[in-house]
Amino acid sequence: MTFQSLGLIAPLLRTLDALGYKQPTPVQKQAIPAVLAGRDVMAAAQTGTGKTAGFALPILHRLTMEGATAPQCVRALVLVPTRELAEQVYESFRSYGSNLPLRSAVAYGGVAIEPQITKLRKGLDVMVATPGRLLDLHDQGVISFELLQTLVLDEADRMLDLGFERDLDILLAALPKQRQTLLFSATFSDEIRKLAKGLLRDPVSIQVEAANTAVKSVKQWLVTTDKRRKPELFLHLLNKLAWTQALVFVKTRKGAEALVKELLDHGLTADAIHGDKTQPARLRALDRFKRKEVQLLIATDVAARGLDIEALPLVVNFDLPSVAEDYIHRIGRTGRAGMEGEAVSLVCADEVDVLKAIETLTRQAVPRFEEQGFEADHRVPETSAKGAAAPARKGPPPNAAKRPVGAPPLAKKPAPPKSEARPAGGSESLGFWTPPEKIGKLASRDRVPGSAPAGRSAPPRSKGADFGAPKGAVVVTGARGAKSQARSDGRATAKPGGRKGKPGPR
Ligand code: AMP
Repeated sequence: MTFQSLGLIAPLLRTLDALGYKQPTPVQKQAIPAVLAGRDVMAAAQTGTGKTAGFALPILHRLTMEGATAPQCVRALVLVPTRELAEQVYESFRSYGSNLPLRSAVAYGGVAIEPQITKLRKGLDVMVATPGRLLDLHDQGVISFELLQTLVLDEADRMLDLGFERDLDILLAALPKQRQTLLFSATFSDEIRKLAKGLLRDPVSIQVEAANTAVKSVKQWLVTTDKRRKPELFLHLLNKLAWTQALVFVKTRKGAEALVKELLDHGLTADAIHGDKTQPARLRALDRFKRKEVQLLIATDVAARGLDIEALPLVVNFDLPSVAEDYIHRIGRTGRAGMEGEAVSLVCADEVDVLKAIETLTRQAVPRFEEQGFEADHRVPETSAKGAAAPARKGPPPNAAKRPVGAPPLAKKPAPPKSEARPAGGSESLGFWTPPEKIGKLASRDRVPGSAPAGRSAPPRSKGADFGAPKGAVVVTGARGAKSQARSDGRATAKPGGRKGKPGPR
């Protein structure tokens, strides 16, 4: 199938050609005809599948072919959960629409509102916005939804996670009932289904990956260690596996700054992106990382949402997220547009509950390794895809024969002495690496560029990672994390009982 056969207008085809998009991705094949036909859409599509073009291309097509905007009016509105995603989706619209006579703008909090108001004066064809700032614009009476024909809720699951439900309710009530609505979500919880039910009319359902299944092209593995040894282990793996560029997730802003400092102290190049940074500072950090001026970008979940970095080879979960769904979003930063990617997690005993939740959600056990010299004193109990204790695994890890050339040798874990007590849930991991060099406690502090084995190496994908997950969502609730961070960022505005007292910049 080609973009031409989907019936897109010539200026869009020219742009796609210039961008080197040869053929539509699976989500685009399904979404483009549905949107062109004016249908509502409910799509379970993860980031990295090409979902943005899946809605942007047919929206741009329709806007070009049908009517024009008027002062203060917006014809297509795309709601996204974060500022970074807003920028990214806006850039996509600008890029895909570069040969079209359409006006677009982006609006989010944390920056001055006046330029956004100025852009609205003449009217817009496309506006990409976060719910909080859009509501501010609406409250000020500077935006009209009179001509609105299409509404997109992008990463709708995340919008609910971040507490935007109340803002969404207010906004949706202000929109014309007669419109096209497209809902994209990486995961499908009961809340999302409820939202979809109230919003969509006879939607075309699109599911390109089983809901809540981690991106197929991402090789996942984890290393267990003690919490205090994580920085050292990270530096060690960075050297040993010759990581060239990595997006590194940490739980807190403080943690992000501490890790950046540690890395800079070791002569590495690193920058952070988190909620305490101003929007220009975040964009600058991202830009430096994209241009490869810094090797490591340390991010918190909220700040990193929506990042699209071309050919990002590696995501490291320095800390596991508080919310299992965030794991899927995090690893979706790599393995994009069909490329291979890798996601490595450093896991300590404190994190076993969220690890269980992740494995239950993704319905796969993440292959587990130990690094000699960094074994955890506080053992991380064994887990399984069912969230329960796994039977102890003996022998080499699955697919051991398929290990990539240059991967560190895997050694069988010696059987524990009979008297050794096993932590609840079993303690035998899949295997552990015996690095070629002897690893002393301080070895990782001596960074010798080029000393690592040639080629990036990694544990093999195990059977546990063959992603044969059945369809359907497993909902993991009750965790705090991104939402509370967004709240303290002043960006989530939901309040029980109404929208009183707006928090800071939105
Ligand atoms: P998304 O899932 O929308 O964030 O897109 C992920 C990446 O895939 C972006 O960098 C897009 O530029 C790229 N992309 C989207 N559609 C195509 C396509 N049909 N062919 C090649 N790359 C694409």
